[in-house]
Amino acid sequence: MLNQNFHTLLKQDVFKSLTQCAEALKVESYLVGGFVRDHLLGRGKAKDIDVVAVGSGIDLAKAVQKKLPHAQKIQIFKSYGTAMVRWGDISLEFVGARKESYSKESRNPKVTEGTLEDDQNRRDFTINAMAVSLNSQNTGTLIDPFNGLEDLEQGIIRTPLEPGITYSDDPLRMLRAIRFATQLNFKIDPPSLQAIRDHAHRIAIISNERIVEELHKIMSTPKPSIGFLLLEQNGLLERILPELIQLKGIEEVEGQRHKDNFYHTLEVVDNICEHTENLWLRWAALLHDIGKAPTKKFHPKIGWTFHGHEFVGSKMVYKLFKRLKMPLNEKMKYVQKLVFMSSRPIVISEEIVTDSAVRRLVFDAGEILEDLITLCEADITTKNPTRYKRYNNNFKLVRQKIKEVEERDRVRNFQPPVTGEMIMEHFRLKPCKEIGIIKEAIKEAILEGEIPNEYDAAFALMLKKGSEMGLETHGK
Ligand code: ATP
Ligand code: MG
Repeated sequence: MLNQNFHTLLKQDVFKSLTQCAEALKVESYLVGGFVRDHLLGRGKAKDIDVVAVGSGIDLAKAVQKKLPHAQKIQIFKSYGTAMVRWGDISLEFVGARKESYSKESRNPKVTEGTLEDDQNRRDFTINAMAVSLNSQNTGTLIDPFNGLEDLEQGIIRTPLEPGITYSDDPLRMLRAIRFATQLNFKIDPPSLQAIRDHAHRIAIISNERIVEELHKIMSTPKPSIGFLLLEQNGLLERILPELIQLKGIEEVEGQRHKDNFYHTLEVVDNICEHTENLWLRWAALLHDIGKAPTKKFHPKIGWTFHGHEFVGSKMVYKLFKRLKMPLNEKMKYVQKLVFMSSRPIVISEEIVTDSAVRRLVFDAGEILEDLITLCEADITTKNPTRYKRYNNNFKLVRQKIKEVEERDRVRNFQPPVTGEMIMEHFRLKPCKEIGIIKEAIKEAILEGEIPNEYDAAFALMLKKGSEMGLETHGK
């Protein structure tokens, strides 16, 4: 049921102020776009309020900013004719009603003043083109020239005007259509889908930043596979993330088949979304197998292998982030590390787990350990219930074992009990390779469980190693 009552909403202070300012300036004003859509859907309390003024949106914004107590300084985007006013956690975005005409090379249109109707015409989807009057003669009335209400009820993404023109004018709308379909679990109208297929190549004029913004929004939904399947089926994924397309398909040699790693990946992403809101962990799930395409080989004796795909995949993460102008900071390194280590807990879960194997995993994974196991659990996509249970239980055992080892040995964020400085002081050494050798020997012995993670044992080992290397002792 759609929440069609706007009257109660409009009694709120922010809307009263808006109406008063618009009346004083004698401009018509309307709520539009995402705000109207989300109110109708009852999607939480919308904090982004889109307002259109028939006249100057900037002047209206200025007046509203003055009227709202303690509103933040206004932000004006002159070239777009828009302005933004923040008031508490609410942000009001103002635009003057406008008409747009596009050229082939750019998604930035030529803009001229227009009527409310012109403004509704230029909007991307019928569900985003509804307006609610803030004017005294018909306050709260929904103005819905394209039957957006019905599309909202039926869950359809449809363009107000001819879809071919809409998508070609601004190809970002192709991604927006798919993103809304994913967020709202809506269907894209078939003529729209056809137009997206026809104009997919036009995505080339969209900046990587805008593309990534939409991908993040798709990745933040409960079921990103909806979006990725649409991107794939309509010719966009091959242009945005060709690495994923390379995972598609099943090859068969001598009767041996490998799984389709594209569909497998999408399942892993959906699975992990049930367990985490962490966007970058979700990205790691999306990219965890990308190294499988370039490393795939068939060996007559052992079948299909993907040797070293984790290493190759982690290198590909860097290239992909760079190409899409995603951050090359600790977020990227986090994703790389997860991809690089993505098979490690699986190996442990399949064998009889030794303490030293677990200690090594804890040591190498460090901060990402929990996320790594979450990724591995999401990676179980077998449809065989007995196997599913077995794999899942194996990871429960791994988690248990990790807990035991952690409590005892504290190797996560490992700080050597004997430091380089101590070694230098004891043997009166200047920086040299012997120090590294001793440190490594101590670390290895702790990870292998030969000595406990304690000062006395580590110091004794230091003395032993030092004497083996012929170093002179100077300490007490
Ligand atoms: P959300 O805020 O959840 O991303 P939204 O629909 O509010 O969704 P915004 O980007 O905030 O999206 O834009 C506000 C409104 O502006 C939209 O509802 C739509 O009417 C219009 N709009 C935004 N981008 C475009 C576009 N590329 N082409 C046409 N209209 C657009
Ligand atoms: Mg919005």
